Amino acid sequence: MDKLIDFHTHHYKPNHTNIISYDVAKFSEVKNDYFTIGIHPWWIQEQKIKQLEELLITQYNKSTFFGLGEMGLDKIRNKQKYQKQQEVFEAQLNLALKYKIKTIILHNVKSHSDTLRILKQTGFNNNIILHDYHGNEETLNQYAKLCHIYPSFKANFICHNSKSSMLTQIPFDSILIETDDDLSVSLEKGYEALAKLFNLSTDQVVQSMYNKFRKLKQN
Ligand SMILES: [Zn+2]
Repeated sequence: MDKLIDFHTHHYKPNHTNIISYDVAKFSEVKNDYFTIGIHPWWIQEQKIKQLEELLITQYNKSTFFGLGEMGLDKIRNKQKYQKQQEVFEAQLNLALKYKIKTIILHNVKSHSDTLRILKQTGFNNNIILHDYHGNEETLNQYAKLCHIYPSFKANFICHNSKSSMLTQIPFDSILIETDDDLSVSLEKGYEALAKLFNLSTDQVVQSMYNKFRKLKQN
């Protein structure tokens, strides 16, 4: 079996195919893995936009460059800078358009309406990974009117969801799996749980994740 893909993580794990999301200020070297770069809404700073563009120019043609992010809005953490968050999110979407970036990784906490409004304003209409998705189906439909959407779920969230959950209402072809910054989570168990939910073999889930990976990857 191929290595399991972790679509959004902040840690390198040798037994997985990792897509590691770096904050622009913390990007250093990449250990033979796929990566994204962006400005996280918790770590907003005006000067980072220029830094991000400079870095993007040197990185986006690399075969390991996956996309932009994570970026987005958070109404709980760093709420005092919510206005700035929106400006920085919009600036990053404009960079995505300028450099024809195929995929962005979106962080969203209680701010779907503002996210949708800014997406509409900028006209970004490519792929969006809705990382650690917690919204409902109706919200997914709103995103789907604007972009190609890929809701991504944490492995332990999948493990704790039953067949009756909203998860099984989502087309399997769009579902992704991640560990984010949680080192205690078993990606393997998440793949097994996903296979069970959709009546597939684990190997079928792995192959499907690789198909999605190829669609989303920049180069
Ligand atoms: Zn993250």
